[in-house]
Amino acid sequence: MANLEGKVALITGASSGIGAATARKLANAGVTVGIAARRLDRLEELKSQIEEDGGKAIVLEMDVTDIKSVENAVAHLVAEGTTIDILFNNAGLMPLSEVDDFKIDEWHRMVDVNMKGLLNTTAAALPYMIAQKSGHVFNTSSIAGRKVFKGLTVYCATKHAVTAFSDGLRMEIGKKHNIRVTCIQPGAVSTELYEQISDPVARQQMEDLRKQMTFLEGEDIANTILYALEAPAHVNMAEMFIMPTQQEW
Ligand code: NDP
Repeated sequence: MANLEGKVALITGASSGIGAATARKLANAGVTVGIAARRLDRLEELKSQIEEDGGKAIVLEMDVTDIKSVENAVAHLVAEGTTIDILFNNAGLMPLSEVDDFKIDEWHRMVDVNMKGLLNTTAAALPYMIAQKSGHVFNTSSIAGRKVFKGLTVYCATKHAVTAFSDGLRMEIGKKHNIRVTCIQPGAVSTELYEQISDPVARQQMEDLRKQMTFLEGEDIANTILYALEAPAHVNMAEMFIMPTQQEW
């Protein structure tokens, strides 16, 4: 898939952070980007920016936890773009807390969005790739999908699940359907992710981190995705572990 001109991507979590940066990057490379999230105002703003830069974007209202919402958005994208060549499963949230705080609603939201949501979008988009015998799936895991950190236990569990699913998916659909699978594993990225943390101590700890090191930007992750997409068809970048130079852990 070295030439991306005319390809169609579905990007979840496109209303901010890594997803928005990747949408801009892929649109610049000639990809029609289906930008999916719940906040439509943010998506409309992003679409305007992409169009001003000469790219093409299709706004998709999507709650990844709702299979009907996912199916409707995928149908809308395919109606306008004819297929899906690239799926970026990126929507996620990280409301951190200690397990013995029993923030059970937040645990469930992380499982529903980070894991089940990713399965929902994969189930809806993959048949188009299988039908055309080509495609590339990117899943946003994390450094928390490689190691476990105290205070991030449930988040780590969901991201380990994403890492495991990505590797199994790669084994099942690579040779059989000619579809590449890349698991993206970033360290700290400067986005809105920390705004979801309701625990004041955990929130402050994450905010303090910003003063201790230079975070990655969403665009840094977008660059790695473009690199994997532009690799020759026989090359599958299975995992990409992208860290701030100053992140010591
Ligand atoms: P942001 O908070 O900026 O973006 C999260 C995105 O997820 C938003 O676009 C949000 O859109 C979307 N989202 C959340 N819930 C839902 C839902 N139910 N349905 C659809 N979309 C949803 O954070 P990031 O850009 O940092 O996060 C992107 C991914 O990167 C996440 O999976 C995160 O876990 C991962 N990651 C982030 C790191 C970091 O340090 N920032 C490090 C490693 C991994 P909306 O609210 O409009 O629906």
